[in-house]
Amino acid sequence: MTVRIGVIGTGMIGRDHTRRIQQVLAGAEVVALSDYNPEAARAVQADLAPGAKVYERGEDLVAAGDVDAVLICSTGSTHEQYVLAAIAAGKPCFCEKPLATTAEGALRIVDAEVAHGSRLVQVGFMRRYDAGYRMLKQAVDSEIGAPLMVHAAHRNPSVPEQYVTPMAIHDTLIHEIDVFRWLLDDDYISAQVVFPRKSGHAHDKVADPQIVLLETAKGVRIDVEIFVNCRYGYDIQCQVVGEEGLANLPDPMAVTLRREARLQSGIMTDWKDRFIDSYDVELHDFIIAAAKGTAAGPTSWDGYVAAISSDACVEAQQKSGQIVPISLPDRPALYDRG
Ligand code: NAP
Repeated sequence: MTVRIGVIGTGMIGRDHTRRIQQVLAGAEVVALSDYNPEAARAVQADLAPGAKVYERGEDLVAAGDVDAVLICSTGSTHEQYVLAAIAAGKPCFCEKPLATTAEGALRIVDAEVAHGSRLVQVGFMRRYDAGYRMLKQAVDSEIGAPLMVHAAHRNPSVPEQYVTPMAIHDTLIHEIDVFRWLLDDDYISAQVVFPRKSGHAHDKVADPQIVLLETAKGVRIDVEIFVNCRYGYDIQCQVVGEEGLANLPDPMAVTLRREARLQSGIMTDWKDRFIDSYDVELHDFIIAAAKGTAAGPTSWDGYVAAISSDACVEAQQKSGQIVPISLPDRPALYDRG
């Protein structure tokens, strides 16, 4: 079966996912496109999906009889309305992060999916599909004994003027927030944020770097450095310390050079390159599940917990130094971990 997909939001990631479905992955085809800016949808139609129909309203795309599944790649504040429409139509949907911009909005999605009775939503937390993180998880699960601590860093070379301090949580740390829950099979119980000396490269509206300290229900302590003006590259580091040993996230493959009395290897500068393969794998997973009328991978519940946890981290930024508790409601059975 070829899954007929409608894409809502044809900006940067919507265009790239359309390319992926049309040119890289088997089993699906983009038959519908919609964007707040119809010109953007028509440009993607012309470049990548000439057979697709362009809809002015995302809701009409969701309702279309020839659309089996929906990709939601529009601006974050619009995700909730389209995910709810997809659930109401009983259609599998892949929603880019964030699932919703508020925890209440994410909970409305969880409630709707639970009322539907089976999974329809996959959230775009692609790090779970990265080969390096998967190797790291295998080591954490079977090689290093009980995890005790995680030391991590998320570094970007620079950020634009519109990047402000809370975005270090909502746009940057959000990926760590999800992937550490998955890596450790655990949940957070508190967050704390402290600010080191500010980098001279950071503009006025962003406190940079920051250190986020998370504590999990099993007692693991996690420190994450967020440094979005580090200059030298896009660099994701993660080390899990266990009671029998420690495991490091592998760096991406790069040729090493011995030249002019120096040993060198390249560091990526663009986040899109760092996780390019994982986007392919996550959408492949989506297509396989959508063909069966269901969803795989990160759940609405994961999106909801990420929203609660990131809200706590933003509060912890505002109350720097204080420990902010994180409490979660009971997880519905629909989201029991296998
Ligand atoms: P973008 O380039 O700004 O694209 C978003 C598109 O959605 C724009 O064309 C925008 O049109 C359109 N749009 C806005 N409101 C809409 C509505 N109500 N209905 C339909 N389309 C609407 O942004 P992006 O970088 O692709 O990001 C899109 C989403 O993907 C964000 O939530 C972002 O966080 C997420 N994302 C995730 C990853 C990841 O690593 N998983 C990476 C990148 C992005 P206008 O420009 O006219 O407003």
